[in-house]
Amino acid sequence: GTLTGVAGTGKTLVALAAYLFRLYGPLTALSNLQVDVMTTLVSFERVFEVLDLAPSVAEKPGAVPVPAGPVRVAFEGVSFRYPSASEVSLGSFEANPTYERAAKGGAPAGVLHDLSFTIEPGTMTALVGPSGAGKTTTALLVARLYDPRAGAVRLNGLDLRDATLDSVRASVGMVMQDAHMFHDTLRANLLYALPGATEAEMRAALAHAQILKLVDSLPQGLDTMLGERGYRLSGGERQRIAIARLLLKAPPVVVLDEATAHLDSESEQAIQVAFETALAGRTSLVIAHRLSTIQRAHQIVVLDQGRIAETGRHEDLLQANGLYAQLYHTQFARKG
Ligand code: ADP
Repeated sequence: GTLTGVAGTGKTLVALAAYLFRLYGPLTALSNLQVDVMTTLVSFERVFEVLDLAPSVAEKPGAVPVPAGPVRVAFEGVSFRYPSASEVSLGSFEANPTYERAAKGGAPAGVLHDLSFTIEPGTMTALVGPSGAGKTTTALLVARLYDPRAGAVRLNGLDLRDATLDSVRASVGMVMQDAHMFHDTLRANLLYALPGATEAEMRAALAHAQILKLVDSLPQGLDTMLGERGYRLSGGERQRIAIARLLLKAPPVVVLDEATAHLDSESEQAIQVAFETALAGRTSLVIAHRLSTIQRAHQIVVLDQGRIAETGRHEDLLQANGLYAQLYHTQFARKG
Protein backbone atom coordinates (compact mmCIF):
# COMPACT_ATOMS: atom_id res chain seq x y z
CA GLY A 1 0.00 0.00 0.00
CA THR A 2 0.98 3.63 0.27
CA LEU A 3 2.88 3.13 3.47
CA THR A 4 5.04 0.44 1.93
CA GLY A 5 5.71 2.79 -0.94
CA VAL A 6 6.87 5.48 1.42
CA ALA A 7 9.08 3.07 3.32
CA GLY A 8 10.54 1.90 0.03
CA THR A 9 11.42 5.44 -0.92
CA GLY A 10 13.14 5.83 2.41
CA LYS A 11 15.28 2.78 1.75
CA THR A 12 16.15 4.01 -1.70
CA LEU A 13 17.17 7.36 -0.27
CA VAL A 14 19.33 5.70 2.35
CA ALA A 15 20.90 3.58 -0.33
CA LEU A 16 21.45 6.50 -2.66
CA ALA A 17 22.86 8.71 0.05
CA ALA A 18 25.06 5.90 1.30
CA TYR A 19 26.33 5.30 -2.17
CA LEU A 20 27.21 8.94 -2.67
CA PHE A 21 28.83 8.99 0.72
CA ARG A 22 31.18 6.13 -0.20
CA LEU A 23 31.78 7.64 -3.60
CA TYR A 24 32.80 10.92 -2.08
CA GLY A 25 35.71 9.37 -0.15
CA PRO A 26 37.85 8.39 -3.12
CA LEU A 27 37.06 11.68 -4.79
CA THR A 28 38.47 13.68 -1.93
CA ALA A 29 41.82 12.33 -2.98
CA LEU A 30 41.50 14.67 -5.90
CA SER A 31 41.55 17.61 -3.62
CA ASN A 32 40.81 20.18 -6.28
CA LEU A 33 37.51 18.52 -6.96
CA GLN A 34 36.58 18.42 -3.33
CA VAL A 35 34.75 21.71 -3.07
CA ASP A 36 32.69 21.18 -6.19
CA VAL A 37 31.76 17.66 -5.26
CA MET A 38 30.91 18.79 -1.78
CA THR A 39 28.48 21.44 -2.88
CA THR A 40 26.82 19.07 -5.30
CA LEU A 41 26.38 16.48 -2.62
CA VAL A 42 25.29 18.74 0.14
CA SER A 43 21.57 18.18 -0.29
CA PHE A 44 22.08 14.43 -0.46
CA GLU A 45 24.15 14.62 2.65
CA ARG A 46 21.28 16.24 4.41
CA VAL A 47 19.15 13.27 3.48
CA PHE A 48 21.95 10.99 4.55
CA GLU A 49 22.37 12.60 7.92
CA VAL A 50 18.70 12.69 8.72
CA LEU A 51 18.12 9.11 7.66
CA ASP A 52 21.37 8.08 9.21
CA LEU A 53 19.68 8.72 12.53
CA ALA A 54 17.66 5.62 11.80
CA PRO A 55 20.64 3.56 12.83
CA SER A 56 22.07 0.44 11.24
CA VAL A 57 21.94 -1.19 14.63
CA ALA A 58 18.94 -1.73 16.84
CA GLU A 59 18.31 -0.78 20.44
CA LYS A 60 17.68 -3.73 22.71
CA PRO A 61 14.60 -3.77 24.88
CA GLY A 62 15.81 -2.79 28.33
CA ALA A 63 18.86 -0.93 27.02
CA VAL A 64 20.50 1.34 29.59
CA PRO A 65 22.39 4.61 29.19
CA VAL A 66 26.18 4.70 29.03
CA PRO A 67 27.32 5.52 32.58
CA ALA A 68 27.97 9.26 32.95
CA GLY A 69 31.37 10.81 33.55
CA PRO A 70 34.78 10.01 32.06
CA VAL A 71 34.64 6.96 29.82
CA ARG A 72 36.96 3.99 29.39
CA VAL A 73 36.73 2.45 25.92
CA ALA A 74 37.52 -1.25 25.66
CA PHE A 75 37.77 -3.55 22.65
CA GLU A 76 37.49 -7.15 23.78
CA GLY A 77 38.33 -9.76 21.17
CA VAL A 78 36.58 -7.77 18.46
CA SER A 79 36.26 -9.36 15.04
CA PHE A 80 34.36 -7.81 12.19
CA ARG A 81 33.64 -8.18 8.53
CA TYR A 82 31.31 -6.22 6.32
CA PRO A 83 28.25 -8.21 5.25
CA SER A 84 28.35 -10.25 2.06
CA ALA A 85 25.90 -9.74 -0.79
CA SER A 86 23.83 -12.74 0.26
CA GLU A 87 23.46 -11.31 3.73
CA VAL A 88 22.14 -8.10 2.30
CA SER A 89 18.46 -8.76 2.71
CA LEU A 90 16.11 -5.86 2.38
CA GLY A 91 16.41 -5.25 6.10
CA SER A 92 20.15 -5.06 6.20
CA PHE A 93 20.14 -3.31 2.85
CA GLU A 94 18.38 -0.50 4.58
CA ALA A 95 20.53 -0.86 7.62
CA ASN A 96 23.93 -1.18 6.09
CA PRO A 97 25.27 1.97 4.47
CA THR A 98 27.93 -0.06 2.73
CA TYR A 99 25.87 -2.62 0.88
CA GLU A 100 27.22 -1.55 -2.45
CA ARG A 101 30.70 -2.78 -1.67
CA ALA A 102 29.37 -6.05 -0.37
CA ALA A 103 27.19 -6.38 -3.44
CA LYS A 104 30.31 -6.79 -5.53
CA GLY A 105 30.15 -10.40 -4.37
CA GLY A 106 32.84 -12.83 -3.44
CA ALA A 107 33.46 -14.27 -0.02
CA PRO A 108 33.48 -11.51 2.56
CA ALA A 109 36.93 -11.02 3.96
CA GLY A 110 37.40 -10.49 7.65
CA VAL A 111 38.31 -6.88 8.26
CA LEU A 112 39.15 -6.96 11.98
CA HIS A 113 40.48 -9.99 13.83
CA ASP A 114 40.39 -10.41 17.59
CA LEU A 115 41.19 -6.83 18.47
CA SER A 116 41.73 -6.16 22.16
CA PHE A 117 42.88 -2.87 23.61
CA THR A 118 41.74 -0.35 26.20
CA ILE A 119 41.71 3.43 26.11
CA GLU A 120 41.84 4.72 29.67
CA PRO A 121 39.57 7.64 30.58
CA GLY A 122 40.97 10.97 29.40
CA THR A 123 43.80 9.44 27.37
CA MET A 124 44.52 9.46 23.65
CA THR A 125 45.20 6.37 21.59
CA ALA A 126 46.67 6.82 18.12
CA LEU A 127 45.66 4.28 15.53
CA VAL A 128 48.24 3.83 12.79
CA GLY A 129 48.81 1.34 10.02
CA PRO A 130 48.92 0.96 6.27
CA SER A 131 45.93 1.94 4.18
CA GLY A 132 43.24 -0.76 4.37
CA ALA A 133 44.47 -2.04 7.73
CA GLY A 134 41.08 -1.38 9.36
CA LYS A 135 41.60 1.96 11.12
CA THR A 136 38.39 3.57 9.89
CA THR A 137 36.38 0.43 10.60
CA THR A 138 37.73 0.36 14.16
CA ALA A 139 36.77 4.00 14.60
CA LEU A 140 33.24 3.34 13.34
CA LEU A 141 32.76 0.52 15.86
CA VAL A 142 33.41 2.92 18.76
CA ALA A 143 30.39 4.96 17.70
CA ARG A 144 28.44 1.73 17.10
CA LEU A 145 27.84 2.32 13.44
CA TYR A 146 28.20 -1.46 13.27
CA ASP A 147 28.22 -4.31 15.76
CA PRO A 148 31.20 -6.66 15.98
CA ARG A 149 30.77 -10.22 14.67
CA ALA A 150 32.55 -11.50 17.76
CA GLY A 151 33.72 -9.84 20.94
CA ALA A 152 32.49 -6.56 22.32
CA VAL A 153 33.16 -2.84 22.38
CA ARG A 154 32.48 -1.45 25.85
CA LEU A 155 32.10 2.05 27.25
CA ASN A 156 32.71 1.99 31.00
CA GLY A 157 32.12 -1.72 30.96
CA LEU A 158 28.78 -1.49 29.17
CA ASP A 159 28.58 -3.48 25.94
CA LEU A 160 27.49 -1.01 23.25
CA ARG A 161 24.76 -3.46 22.26
CA ASP A 162 23.20 -3.01 25.70
CA ALA A 163 23.34 0.79 25.62
CA THR A 164 20.60 3.15 24.50
CA LEU A 165 21.34 4.61 21.09
CA ASP A 166 20.81 8.15 22.36
CA SER A 167 23.39 7.70 25.08
CA VAL A 168 25.91 6.28 22.62
CA ARG A 169 25.34 9.23 20.32
CA ALA A 170 25.76 11.63 23.22
CA SER A 171 28.88 9.85 24.48
CA VAL A 172 30.86 9.54 21.27
CA GLY A 173 31.68 12.47 18.99
CA MET A 174 33.24 11.87 15.61
CA VAL A 175 35.19 14.18 13.33
CA MET A 176 36.07 12.21 10.25
CA GLN A 177 37.66 13.60 7.12
CA ASP A 178 34.44 14.24 5.26
CA ALA A 179 32.52 16.21 7.87
CA HIS A 180 28.89 16.68 6.92
CA MET A 181 27.24 20.07 6.82
CA PHE A 182 23.58 20.68 6.30
CA HIS A 183 22.62 22.94 3.48
CA ASP A 184 21.46 25.49 5.97
CA THR A 185 22.88 28.38 7.96
CA LEU A 186 26.00 28.01 10.01
CA ARG A 187 23.86 28.70 13.07
CA ALA A 188 21.52 25.81 12.24
CA ASN A 189 24.52 23.55 11.71
CA LEU A 190 25.77 24.41 15.17
CA LEU A 191 22.37 24.12 16.85
CA TYR A 192 22.11 20.62 15.45
CA ALA A 193 24.92 19.65 17.83
CA LEU A 194 23.45 21.43 20.84
CA PRO A 195 19.83 22.52 20.46
CA GLY A 196 19.35 25.65 22.52
CA ALA A 197 22.99 26.71 22.43
CA THR A 198 23.33 30.43 23.10
CA GLU A 199 25.09 32.83 20.77
CA ALA A 200 27.90 33.12 23.32
CA GLU A 201 28.31 29.36 23.47
CA MET A 202 28.44 29.13 19.70
CA ARG A 203 31.01 31.90 19.48
CA ALA A 204 33.16 30.29 22.15
CA ALA A 205 33.06 26.95 20.34
CA LEU A 206 33.98 28.63 17.05
CA ALA A 207 36.82 30.50 18.73
CA HIS A 208 38.23 27.31 20.26
CA ALA A 209 37.88 25.59 16.91
CA GLN A 210 39.99 28.39 15.37
CA ILE A 211 37.28 29.44 12.96
CA LEU A 212 35.60 32.43 14.62
CA LYS A 213 37.68 34.97 12.73
CA LEU A 214 36.51 33.59 9.43
CA VAL A 215 32.88 33.56 10.57
CA ASP A 216 33.13 37.16 11.75
CA SER A 217 34.56 38.18 8.40
CA LEU A 218 31.45 36.92 6.60
CA PRO A 219 28.82 39.62 5.99
CA GLN A 220 26.07 37.38 7.37
CA GLY A 221 28.14 35.86 10.17
CA LEU A 222 26.34 32.94 11.79
CA ASP A 223 23.46 33.36 9.37
CA THR A 224 25.64 32.54 6.38
CA MET A 225 24.17 29.76 4.28
CA LEU A 226 26.53 26.84 3.79
CA GLY A 227 26.77 24.77 0.65
CA GLU A 228 25.45 25.24 -2.82
CA ARG A 229 24.82 28.89 -3.66
CA GLY A 230 26.00 29.63 -0.15
CA TYR A 231 29.44 29.85 1.34
CA ARG A 232 31.70 27.07 0.16
CA LEU A 233 33.81 25.92 3.06
CA SER A 234 37.24 24.57 2.28
CA GLY A 235 38.09 21.11 3.60
CA GLY A 236 39.99 22.59 6.52
CA GLU A 237 37.21 25.05 7.35
CA ARG A 238 34.63 22.30 7.27
CA GLN A 239 36.71 20.25 9.65
CA ARG A 240 36.99 23.17 12.05
CA ILE A 241 33.23 23.74 11.98
CA ALA A 242 32.85 20.03 12.73
CA ILE A 243 35.13 20.55 15.72
CA ALA A 244 33.04 23.52 16.85
CA ARG A 245 30.00 21.24 16.76
CA LEU A 246 31.88 18.65 18.74
CA LEU A 247 32.86 21.22 21.36
CA LEU A 248 29.21 22.25 21.72
CA LYS A 249 28.16 18.65 22.09
CA ALA A 250 31.03 17.98 24.53
CA PRO A 251 31.01 14.18 24.39
CA PRO A 252 33.33 12.29 26.78
CA VAL A 253 34.69 10.20 23.89
CA VAL A 254 36.09 11.60 20.66
CA VAL A 255 36.95 9.68 17.53
CA LEU A 256 38.79 11.64 14.91
CA ASP A 257 40.58 11.23 11.66
CA GLU A 258 43.37 13.70 11.11
CA ALA A 259 43.22 15.47 7.80
CA THR A 260 45.56 14.33 5.12
CA ALA A 261 44.17 16.68 2.53
CA HIS A 262 46.59 19.30 1.31
CA LEU A 263 46.06 22.24 3.56
CA ASP A 264 47.96 25.48 3.52
CA SER A 265 50.28 25.73 6.48
CA GLU A 266 48.15 28.34 8.24
CA SER A 267 45.00 26.24 8.28
CA GLU A 268 47.09 23.18 9.09
CA GLN A 269 48.29 24.99 12.18
CA ALA A 270 44.77 26.12 13.07
CA ILE A 271 43.43 22.59 12.73
CA GLN A 272 46.15 21.25 15.00
CA VAL A 273 45.20 23.73 17.71
CA ALA A 274 41.50 22.92 17.21
CA PHE A 275 42.17 19.19 17.45
CA GLU A 276 44.14 19.62 20.64
CA THR A 277 41.28 21.59 22.17
CA ALA A 278 38.77 18.96 21.08
CA LEU A 279 40.79 16.16 22.63
CA ALA A 280 41.76 17.82 25.89
CA GLY A 281 40.50 15.80 28.84
CA ARG A 282 38.54 13.39 26.66
CA THR A 283 39.00 9.72 25.93
CA SER A 284 40.06 9.68 22.31
CA LEU A 285 40.90 7.45 19.41
CA VAL A 286 42.72 9.28 16.64
CA ILE A 287 43.47 7.90 13.21
CA ALA A 288 46.82 9.58 13.20
CA HIS A 289 48.86 10.75 10.26
CA ARG A 290 51.12 13.24 11.98
CA LEU A 291 54.20 12.47 13.98
CA SER A 292 53.40 15.20 16.51
CA THR A 293 50.05 13.53 17.28
CA ILE A 294 51.60 10.08 17.46
CA GLN A 295 54.30 11.28 19.82
CA ARG A 296 51.68 12.82 22.12
CA ALA A 297 49.58 9.64 22.22
CA HIS A 298 49.44 7.74 25.50
CA GLN A 299 49.30 4.59 23.45
CA ILE A 300 49.87 3.73 19.80
CA VAL A 301 47.95 0.80 18.33
CA VAL A 302 49.53 -0.39 15.10
CA LEU A 303 47.08 -2.23 12.85
CA ASP A 304 48.08 -4.49 10.01
CA GLN A 305 45.50 -6.38 7.95
CA GLY A 306 42.93 -6.09 10.69
CA ARG A 307 45.19 -7.35 13.45
CA ILE A 308 47.07 -5.53 16.14
CA ALA A 309 50.70 -5.78 15.11
CA GLU A 310 52.13 -3.75 17.98
CA THR A 311 51.11 -1.44 20.80
CA GLY A 312 53.26 0.90 22.80
CA ARG A 313 54.62 4.40 22.85
CA HIS A 314 56.64 6.02 20.14
CA GLU A 315 60.12 5.40 21.57
CA ASP A 316 59.44 1.77 22.46
CA LEU A 317 57.97 0.99 19.09
CA LEU A 318 60.88 2.64 17.29
CA GLN A 319 63.22 0.44 19.33
CA ALA A 320 61.22 -2.66 18.53
CA ASN A 321 62.04 -1.95 14.90
CA GLY A 322 58.84 -3.55 13.56
CA LEU A 323 56.00 -2.28 11.42
CA TYR A 324 55.75 0.98 13.35
CA ALA A 325 59.42 1.75 12.75
CA GLN A 326 58.92 1.01 9.08
CA LEU A 327 55.87 3.32 8.87
CA TYR A 328 57.79 5.94 10.76
CA HIS A 329 60.65 5.96 8.31
CA THR A 330 58.46 5.91 5.21
CA GLN A 331 55.62 8.23 6.31
CA PHE A 332 55.56 9.96 9.65
CA ALA A 333 59.10 11.21 9.77
CA ARG A 334 58.38 13.40 6.76
CA LYS A 335 55.24 15.07 8.03
CA GLY A 336 56.22 16.32 11.45
P1 ADP B 1 41.90 1.99 6.82
O1 ADP B 1 41.06 3.05 7.47
O2 ADP B 1 42.99 1.48 7.70
O3 ADP B 1 42.44 2.42 5.48
P2 ADP B 1 39.38 0.58 6.46
O4 ADP B 1 38.82 0.34 7.81
O5 ADP B 1 38.81 1.70 5.66
O6 ADP B 1 40.98 0.70 6.56
O7 ADP B 1 39.25 -0.74 5.59
C1 ADP B 1 39.64 -2.00 6.07
C2 ADP B 1 39.23 -3.06 5.06
O8 ADP B 1 37.82 -3.12 4.97
C3 ADP B 1 39.74 -2.80 3.65
O9 ADP B 1 40.06 -4.04 3.06
C4 ADP B 1 38.55 -2.20 2.97
O10 ADP B 1 38.56 -2.45 1.60
C5 ADP B 1 37.40 -2.90 3.65
N1 ADP B 1 36.22 -2.03 3.70
C6 ADP B 1 36.16 -0.77 4.17
N2 ADP B 1 34.93 -0.28 4.11
C7 ADP B 1 34.16 -1.27 3.59
C8 ADP B 1 32.78 -1.41 3.28
N3 ADP B 1 31.96 -0.40 3.52
N4 ADP B 1 32.34 -2.57 2.75
C9 ADP B 1 33.18 -3.59 2.55
N5 ADP B 1 34.49 -3.54 2.83
C10 ADP B 1 34.98 -2.40 3.34
